[in-house]
Amino acid sequence: MDHAIPISKRALGEHRLGNLVPSCAACNGEKGEKHFATFLAGQAERIARIKAHMARHGYQPLANNKALRQVLDTAYKEVGQIATRYTTIIDALLRDRPQVRPLRPSPPPAVSGSRPSPAD
Ligand SMILES: [Zn+2]
Repeated sequence: MDHAIPISKRALGEHRLGNLVPSCAACNGEKGEKHFATFLAGQAERIARIKAHMARHGYQPLANNKALRQVLDTAYKEVGQIATRYTTIIDALLRDRPQVRPLRPSPPPAVSGSRPSPAD
């Protein structure tokens, strides 16, 4: 099985029945991340059969939805900016952190089945 429209940020294919088509391993590998219509360029009948398969299962490719595309593009940019802001803050925090030495060496890690020593 292969995704006619690849599952990627750009192509927005979905893991749904209407987007799943049978494929041999060789064709699946060769198609890779290409859109099915790109991969099957010049093979109108096969493209039409996949489109009919999508329609039969009520699959509507998301990339054709301009409003959704805009929302996703904006969300992707904003999430990227937030991630950059927080990694910058966290990096600065960790860089400026005072190096505190422990007063005593830390105890050895507990071994499963061991009993607490009398000093505890
Ligand atoms: Zn094949």
